[in-house]
Amino acid sequence: MPGYTPDETLAVDPAVFESAFSVFSERLIHTYPFFHPMYIGQMMKPPHPVASIGYLAAMMMNPNNHALDGGPVTGGLEEEAIAAFAARFGFAKYLGHLTGGGTVANLEALWIARSLHPDKAIAVSDNAHYTHRRMADVIQAKTVPVAATVEGRMDVTSLEEVLQRGGVGTVVVTLGTTGLGALDPLDDVLGLKEKYGFRVHVDMAYGGYYHLLAETDPHFAVFGRVSEADSVVIDPHKHGLQPYGCGCVMFADPAVGRFYKHDSPYTYFSSHEVHLGEISLECSRPGAAAAALWLTLQCFPLKADTGMGPVLAKTRQAALSFAARIHESAEFDLYLEPELDIVTYFPKGSATSAISAHSRRVLHAGMRSTDYPVYVATLNVSAEDFHKRHPGITVDSDQVTILRSCLMKPEHADWTPQLMQLLEHHARLLQD
Ligand SMILES: *Cc1c(COP(=O)(O)O)cnc(C)c1O
Repeated sequence: MPGYTPDETLAVDPAVFESAFSVFSERLIHTYPFFHPMYIGQMMKPPHPVASIGYLAAMMMNPNNHALDGGPVTGGLEEEAIAAFAARFGFAKYLGHLTGGGTVANLEALWIARSLHPDKAIAVSDNAHYTHRRMADVIQAKTVPVAATVEGRMDVTSLEEVLQRGGVGTVVVTLGTTGLGALDPLDDVLGLKEKYGFRVHVDMAYGGYYHLLAETDPHFAVFGRVSEADSVVIDPHKHGLQPYGCGCVMFADPAVGRFYKHDSPYTYFSSHEVHLGEISLECSRPGAAAAALWLTLQCFPLKADTGMGPVLAKTRQAALSFAARIHESAEFDLYLEPELDIVTYFPKGSATSAISAHSRRVLHAGMRSTDYPVYVATLNVSAEDFHKRHPGITVDSDQVTILRSCLMKPEHADWTPQLMQLLEHHARLLQD
């Protein structure tokens, strides 16, 4: 190809750029230090350098994974990445693709659920991600609430009551709830499926990567049955070391592809003939996201003993060690035993309003301190739920603000003593 010069309309005055960039970098500095082990707040961490390199390299060409002519190479990388997840989860046949995130991925799963059972409702636990109810509203699907247990899991008795009333087409099971990291009882739900007949959608946007530990740690055995679900969602941009903009939805039956493209015979949609542009609700999608994920999967395969497995095992170790320290702490009580790497706890106190105020003070003190910085998050729980878990504490508020920490970086495994020291320092100092 002949060489060319970029058009003059695209030229930027270096002085203009320099001044804009200095304002820009000054503003960026005020982002919280998500990369640092002392950040144990929300579900946030930066992408792995491997993912950033994959993303940047592909992004320079800006392929569009809407269709193979927009992303001839990155479309193939997406198919290979999806195949890796399908193999890991045990889907012999499947239809799947990447999405902008977990919300859109779940939307697609609910949309297929509604398309298959237009008159039936979708059962959603009270602890499921809030977007399920919102997305059901968008597609005008009915939802029925299912109560949660004291452990934050879907209550099977409540689910069976709902099923007995009839009219349920799909049950949403969350493996790793966003607030508490609880694992819904997929085994029991699959048992009820045999009796009542319904689709099972597993939302493991957050928890999906713990599937890697299913064989080595009996605590995660429930993930072994994900292969029996009708659809699953996983977010590589949460635990998969990816930059934002990378969710994934997968269906066990490739024939659901017919809902994406009405004028195509459904036999077209087999696991070998996925045409990404025709099986995604979104049109344009970043080929760079697929490139980043593919490159990451080469360096961090979906295995228990190497690649991603040891990364996940460290986060679990961190949560257990952090929880053990809270048990021993003079300043904090554990709210709930962690099931993944999310730990919930609160400053000791005799009444819920004082606990809430103290939690907020610890959050702000840690964030503002230059000498003893530590970044946590808060979680609002209902006084009713709080009381069930901690009956000895006086309830004098409707809601209780507690502390919540996602120990999702492997470095956290070695940092828990220091993290606890910092938190105790702030809690002691602020004691009223
Ligand atoms: C984060 C999360 C979602 C939403 O995913 P986004 O990528 O933020 O859109 C859905 N379900 C669960 C369980 C989640 O943790």
